[in-house]
Amino acid sequence: MEILHVAAECFPVAKAGGLGDVVGALPKYQNKLGAISKVVMPMYRTSFLIENEWQLVHEGGQFLGEQFFHYSVIREKTNRLGFDLYLVDINGLLDREKVYGYADDIERFLAFQITVCDWLKSWSRLPDIVHCHDHHCGLIPFLFKYADEFQSRLHNIPTVFTVHNAQYQGNFDWGKSVLLPSYDSWKWSMLDWHGQINPLAAAIKSSWRVTTVSHSYLQELRQQAAGLEKLFEYEKGKCSSILNGIDADLWNPEKDPYLLFHFTINSFEIGKKKNKEELCNNFQLDPALPLFCFIGRLVGEKAADLLPAAIQHAINRHKGKVNILLLGSGEKSIENELYHLQHSLGGYFKCSIGYQEALSHSMYAGADFLLMPSRVEPCGLNQLYAMRFGTIPMVRRVGGLKDTVIDMGDDGGYGICFNHASVEDISHSIDRAIALYSNEPTQMNHFRKLMMGFDFSWNKAAQLYLDLYKTLKY
Ligand code: ADP
Repeated sequence: MEILHVAAECFPVAKAGGLGDVVGALPKYQNKLGAISKVVMPMYRTSFLIENEWQLVHEGGQFLGEQFFHYSVIREKTNRLGFDLYLVDINGLLDREKVYGYADDIERFLAFQITVCDWLKSWSRLPDIVHCHDHHCGLIPFLFKYADEFQSRLHNIPTVFTVHNAQYQGNFDWGKSVLLPSYDSWKWSMLDWHGQINPLAAAIKSSWRVTTVSHSYLQELRQQAAGLEKLFEYEKGKCSSILNGIDADLWNPEKDPYLLFHFTINSFEIGKKKNKEELCNNFQLDPALPLFCFIGRLVGEKAADLLPAAIQHAINRHKGKVNILLLGSGEKSIENELYHLQHSLGGYFKCSIGYQEALSHSMYAGADFLLMPSRVEPCGLNQLYAMRFGTIPMVRRVGGLKDTVIDMGDDGGYGICFNHASVEDISHSIDRAIALYSNEPTQMNHFRKLMMGFDFSWNKAAQLYLDLYKTLKY
């Protein structure tokens, strides 16, 4: 079975969050299971592009409205990621340093999707499945079915669309509909949601199957989906959930190239201690104190706006008894507040504003606790990485966090869970964590060891996707 994944991110080529991790790992695991799984994504100007060798596989031309553009598709020559990786180059539109955040993102991802369709048309044997991820490729299932120049060749390709995050929908005004290739105008409503062209909604309406990245998130989307609740309810028959996995080769404390000190399930006590000392030294924190970390986008979804107050409260309440280290980037007001907070908390709180892959690994390895008070969490990978590195997750019971972390108290689990995205709940969970760290080190080590033994790898989920694809073969 041949599968083509279409996405805006793929680690290590380009990553802004969990989507990149998923697209960089799932195809590799699918190939290990005997499938032929490939990825196509935009060609950004990244170090991965410069450091690897590429082969030109296709060239063509297309239109974005009245604007003609030339495109090329290149393939990484050595298959070093464990799957064929194709990049789409559209001069001036995609070859930028960042993945998102440009004024012409709508045009960029529209041109990308049109190009993927145009390129696919040239394949002598079409893939068995096209699997699209998030709104940046949400129009592809629609274009396959209804675009005049694509539908005769691509109409029958089964499409799977995975919702990694429904907060971002890529919607734009109908005035820009002229940018789309001509399509069966009777089908305009497949594109529309509340008077706008909405690529996420179009994907849910047009694709053959829709998946979400955790079971609880699928349930939640029917109640809270940034305006798409009724659509998820209406289309529930084609929706199912497959919990994300992690790339257990890459996120592996035994051989993680970002770590100075490697450790296994049998040597985690000393391994984590050394990583913690190294991390604390780098940030002038005291390694004798419990170390709490937060890693992630500094946005409301992650409840990052609550962090300044929660951090202040924890450090003032447990004077001299707690360290907090934060890595993140996002809303400027939150970034600024956190940055300045460092100066008023006596050296017990440090933060690094920005995106740093290497530091994130050191933090998963060196932290005692990882805090995730998210308001919305489709799956969440951080808590899975934390557990793999023997770090205790402290999570709000929402989405994938609810499905992967069980509270160590009454629920007989291994993590710390709370119900509300509030300063009070975060503070209470920090109190619990400090009590565990100070009074029950043996118990804490028991939880660490238990979690390190869990298999959250992609093995299971990769097979579940293959099983889903098989039901769609025509
Ligand atoms: P998201 O909603 O951001 O996709 P996930 O939990 O699914 O959240 O995935 C987040 C991924 O991004 C993880 O691999 C995490 O380590 C990484 N990440 C987030 N922010 C940063 C950062 N500032 N620096 C390095 N890695 C980060």
